[in-house]
Amino acid sequence: MSERLTSRSRSVAGKVVLITGAASGMGKATAFLFADEGAHVAVTDLRQADVDAVVEQIHGVGGTAFGAALDVTDADAIVRVVDDIRRELGPIDIVVNNAGVVAGGQLEDPNFEDEWVKALDVLLTPHQRIVRACLDDLKASGEGRIINISSTEGITAQRNATPYTAAKHGVVGLTRSLAVNLGVHGITVNAICPGPILTGITEPIPEDMRDTFARRRTALRRYGDPEEVAHITLSLAMPAASYITGAIIPVDGGLTAKND
Ligand code: NAD
Repeated sequence: MSERLTSRSRSVAGKVVLITGAASGMGKATAFLFADEGAHVAVTDLRQADVDAVVEQIHGVGGTAFGAALDVTDADAIVRVVDDIRRELGPIDIVVNNAGVVAGGQLEDPNFEDEWVKALDVLLTPHQRIVRACLDDLKASGEGRIINISSTEGITAQRNATPYTAAKHGVVGLTRSLAVNLGVHGITVNAICPGPILTGITEPIPEDMRDTFARRRTALRRYGDPEEVAHITLSLAMPAASYITGAIIPVDGGLTAKND
């Protein structure tokens, strides 16, 4: 079939996408998926060697990628790395704020304050810094896209995870606020709230505990695969996804829908 019956593009080919925390889990799956779709992928994560491994795999299948070590808590590094990406790949069209860590504990714990600071430093503050560093590019793109990876902890709460939960709820608030402020530039801003996904963060949990949790808490009775989240990120980044903004989208196997 050579003629199409619809007008809007599903292609991110040639778009420049910046992904944080892209050497593992959902970030890596997102980097691979965008590369498969012909996007030019800026792979960033803490360690250069981990980033290089992902870039090598993308180059191995003929994709376009540039790798840079980026600790998202380093405000100067964000500006420097965004400049490097711009020089290597061109202006940035799509930002995926994905990097994350576990930050939890009980209010009584002596290190609660440290966990709180870590949660905000890694899971929330960098998002606005990265957006500000990329803002001119996103405005010029005409199809600028920001996708923030929050969590089901951004919608509900589990015990002993106050810092993480507060930061992920913050990501939801930031997403709505940026959507409202940047809509005038045609930039869409959405948040994905993954449920339990098998990644570097959840692999240390014993398998039987993971299984019990997933069977009890999710409608689909299983953990999700990082690629299942990456596909929703890709959908939000498509040029055709031009009328969804400020949305908070659970990708959680039905966890937030389930109440029994
Ligand atoms: P992951 O550990 O596989 O990947 C997270 C990546 O972030 C790692 O590569 C890590 O090196 C990187 N990172 C950590 N601190 C960083 C920093 N300061 N600067 C730059 N990079 C840093 O885990 P994942 O599950 O793929 O996590 C991705 C996102 O998904 C996180 O924001 C996490 O909170 C969120 N999330 C995960 C789950 C889950 O069940 N796995 C559920 C909901 C939300």
